[in-house]
Amino acid sequence: MADNNDSSTEIKDTDIIFDCPHCSKSLAIDYRGAGLTIPCSDCGKMVEVPIPEGMEIGDIDSTEEEQEIQILNLRRLLSVAEEKILHLEEELTEIRGRREVLEHEHSQNITRTARLSESATGLLNALKGATAAAEKIAEDITDETDVQS
Ligand SMILES: [Zn+2]
Repeated sequence: MADNNDSSTEIKDTDIIFDCPHCSKSLAIDYRGAGLTIPCSDCGKMVEVPIPEGMEIGDIDSTEEEQEIQILNLRRLLSVAEEKILHLEEELTEIRGRREVLEHEHSQNITRTARLSESATGLLNALKGATAAAEKIAEDITDETDVQS
């Protein structure tokens, strides 16, 4: 890991950064110090080095290289997860927009359906009338043929 920082501060990517609970000084401790109790470099009181999220005590026994790879992997996973969140948020906005369109169409459809059922009722009534008329005509014809035969 080539850093463009010079060695004056010497805070590495793998360092654990936390505040001393006694003097609030920001401390940077090598990750291998996670879970250990060490004296604060400023006030000298004993402070417990927090264990970073995603790191387990058992991991501390592994080599520096393994640790760095693990931290890098976690960072990569984090950025992938962040990207996914962004993507999902975009999708959500899109789905919300689509839902609005659908809801609008739905209300339009309801009006259309009501109108359609109205004209269907009208047609049905007309059909009933026509059927009745046809029946009457048929009756008349039958009557006439009855008369003729
Ligand atoms: Zn301190």
